[in-house]
Amino acid sequence: MSYEPGASVEGTIPLCVPEIRGNEWQYVKECLDTNWVSSAGPFVRRFEEELKRYAGTSHAIATSTGTAALHIALLAAGVEPENEVLVSNLSFIAPANAIRYAGAFPVFIDAEPIYWQMDPNLVLEFLDKECNWSNGQLINRKSGRRVTALLPVHILGHPVDIDPLLDVARKYNLAVIEDATESLGARYKARTVGHLGDIACFSFNGNKVITTGGGGMIVTDNDEWAAKARYLSTQAKDDEVEYIHGAIGYNYRLTNIQAALGCAQMEQLPSYLEKKRAIAARYREGLAAVPGIRLMPEATYAHAVYWLSTILVNESEYGEDSRALLLRLAQAQIQSRPLWQPLHRSPAYPDTQTYGSSVSDQLNKAALSLPSSVGINHNELELVINTISERHG
Ligand SMILES: *Cc1c(COP(=O)(O)O)cnc(C)c1O
Repeated sequence: MSYEPGASVEGTIPLCVPEIRGNEWQYVKECLDTNWVSSAGPFVRRFEEELKRYAGTSHAIATSTGTAALHIALLAAGVEPENEVLVSNLSFIAPANAIRYAGAFPVFIDAEPIYWQMDPNLVLEFLDKECNWSNGQLINRKSGRRVTALLPVHILGHPVDIDPLLDVARKYNLAVIEDATESLGARYKARTVGHLGDIACFSFNGNKVITTGGGGMIVTDNDEWAAKARYLSTQAKDDEVEYIHGAIGYNYRLTNIQAALGCAQMEQLPSYLEKKRAIAARYREGLAAVPGIRLMPEATYAHAVYWLSTILVNESEYGEDSRALLLRLAQAQIQSRPLWQPLHRSPAYPDTQTYGSSVSDQLNKAALSLPSSVGINHNELELVINTISERHG
């Protein structure tokens, strides 16, 4: 049996599935009973209020997906066609796509090797060595394009080391847009992820920390950007009665049914976060004695949520590489997943400027995400740990 990239390996212990055990049924029934099924209704407002309170921002705007949230956040932050945005190279592809939807171009920044997040030193070095600052504009010498934003992605529930990025962003007048889609509930030096930069995005698709089936949220303190985000995500309507639209807008609204799910999920978020950390702690402990297996560490600056508990497999120490382990886990009905193809290798992004790439490549080769559903039980966790511990059993 050989490993086919992209093949999905379904197991009886899934990688990460929703946990629906709270008021979801009741709230969705309320939508159906009251006829508020579409993109207006009390749950949309309530869900926005709850995310706003949770993130500690002045505004929250619900969207149809996390990718839509990123697209709108970029537009609201003033990113324009032909601009450039620095984004994490080791990430799900959505933030790069959102940059292109806005007509701008990504520059891929490598990860740092310890916590696997966008490397702030590379960002500083890129801005310093590759760009010119003149007339209040930062120009990438190679492309001649203007750099206007940073888009750090907090991958796998662990925050990016954001303070150095915020400093350099102030210096060069860059917008900082957080992709917090994998990290609802994480903290950075006691500050909430989603309230670190200028504007941030969450996702509520089926495998994220909480789910609405599909959905997203933009959070920000900036009044003007919030108004623009709401306007653009609701078809840029100037007059509802006369159908007057002041710009080319988007239909990116979340429905009341989805928001109803979200409100019920938010009630359970504290217990989900506790469970995610408990899963990671058990993997860390259970795998501590296995040579060549190491769980993603947590930085002293961080409180991670371990959206997906992810290990690195050192082939020479462990005696098997990450893909061989993936296959062996699949044979035991356990689903695991490598990390994303680094963006600099993506066929969707040929000829895209990349600053550093070797760390992303190494992590992609060695990493494997393990079953991390909130609903995973004790026996399932022990089976995963035992299967990895057995090695070639
Ligand atoms: C999940 C995810 C998104 C957004 O996903 P949607 O499915 O559009 O909600 C964006 N960025 C990253 C890094 C993600 O993991």
